[in-house]
Amino acid sequence: MTRSLQTSNQNQKTLLREILTKITQIIQNRGRALVVFDLDSTLFDVSPRLQKILHDFAHNPDNQSRFPESCEILKEAETLRSDWGIKNALVRAGLDNHHPDFHLALKTFWLESFFSNHYLQYDKPYEGAAEYVNQLHQAGAEIVYLTGRDIPRMNQGTLDVLKKWNFPIHVPRAEVVLKPEKGLDDAQFKTDWFAALPEGVYQGIWFFENEPVNVNLVRDTHEHVEIVFFESTHAGKAEPPTELPRIMHYLLD
Ligand SMILES: [Mg+2]
Repeated sequence: MTRSLQTSNQNQKTLLREILTKITQIIQNRGRALVVFDLDSTLFDVSPRLQKILHDFAHNPDNQSRFPESCEILKEAETLRSDWGIKNALVRAGLDNHHPDFHLALKTFWLESFFSNHYLQYDKPYEGAAEYVNQLHQAGAEIVYLTGRDIPRMNQGTLDVLKKWNFPIHVPRAEVVLKPEKGLDDAQFKTDWFAALPEGVYQGIWFFENEPVNVNLVRDTHEHVEIVFFESTHAGKAEPPTELPRIMHYLLD
């Protein structure tokens, strides 16, 4: 098992290096290269954001008086990289069978908080993410952060957290693309964005994404885009692709 993990890890590093090399060559030949990154669960681990939301709920005095026993347990709940939403953390903490009113109040707070500028500051980049994106950018690639987050609720927090972790932002050849409004379908939004790119301009386009639904639609409609599947967590609405390269970190060494 250890051996296969090491091999797999080596494959990931090789893939990341190859992309960097190809981009360097494209730029040396006076071409253009574009690298598109999803944010949530692709560049950023959102489980610290989730955990902070659960703990803030548990420490709120109103919630403590309404749900004293549940809040005591929730204070100790921990989220994992593999969590999707809050359900798994609640089950592990033994809170899955607690009062429906508690779950409703917590779910409401979670939805309000998770999709808000304020809580984005708790996201943490995956290993090597900022360094790798900077290396691609310094090699001459154009960087786009293409996210299902929406402008009204999450624009400022997105810019702030990218800056906080030293991703290329507020510089030439780096752009953030959020949904103009909430409620748009993620996969369609991203696919439409790729469809709107000018044709024949780029000699290489790469797309890093963790959500199989998004990966599948972009793959099926844009053959020229080289997709890298980021293995972290996803909504479980489609199976992870088996034929695409996959990575779990951005470390080159
Ligand atoms: Mg994502």
